[in-house]
Amino acid sequence: MQLTAKDFTAMFRQIATRIEGERNHLCELDGHIGDADHGIAMEQGFGAIVKALDTSEPATPTDVFNTAAKSFLNAVGASSGPLYATAFLRAGAAFKGKETVAIDEAPSVIEAMARGVAERGKAELGDKTMIDAWKPAAIAVEQAREAGKPLSEVLAAARKAAEEGAEATKTMVASKGRSSRLGERSLGHMDPGAASAAIIVGEICDFLARS
Ligand code: ADP
Ligand code: MG
Repeated sequence: MQLTAKDFTAMFRQIATRIEGERNHLCELDGHIGDADHGIAMEQGFGAIVKALDTSEPATPTDVFNTAAKSFLNAVGASSGPLYATAFLRAGAAFKGKETVAIDEAPSVIEAMARGVAERGKAELGDKTMIDAWKPAAIAVEQAREAGKPLSEVLAAARKAAEEGAEATKTMVASKGRSSRLGERSLGHMDPGAASAAIIVGEICDFLARS
């Protein structure tokens, strides 16, 4: 099974639909420890991606992710804008020169995106950011692959790690981004960026599992 640019476009459409449905929840989470705009930022960002992909119809998987990076960055003024733009650029680079991506290779997208967010935002595990969902998901992909696990188990492990990572941010004090100003008062709340990261990882895994 090989994934084409059209498949990755469909993947973005699926993520955008889910994010749209979670917009209010994500804004609510951001309302507790930030400025209540995270759901709007993510909805606008993924909405812009879908629109750009529909009009430009990129030819390769790399073009899809590069188009996503550009449109997300242009649409999102919040700090998630450059973080996800870099994540998409790294995912595009991971598939460079390929017309199609073998389904077994596709979980690399999670590792590449986690790398992009880390490079751009310089957050560490425990800082109460989206890294607390992305990094465990990337590590889960790496370990499951090294252990020779089948695709379904690689994806299940990634999804679980992202969800647990997002959940764990409730016990963390924010030390990066807007919510770091709250100090101890950020305790007890899930980080909105980690929540949306777990949603995105979940949709990627769901899409790949059904491909
Ligand atoms: P803003 O804080 O500008 O309003 P958003 O509300 O869209 O931006 O996103 C907030 C999320 O961004 C946080 O919940 C956190 O997960 C993430 N974030 C902020 N700074 C960083 C960083 N340096 N590295 C990784 N993620 C970050
Ligand atoms: Mg915000």
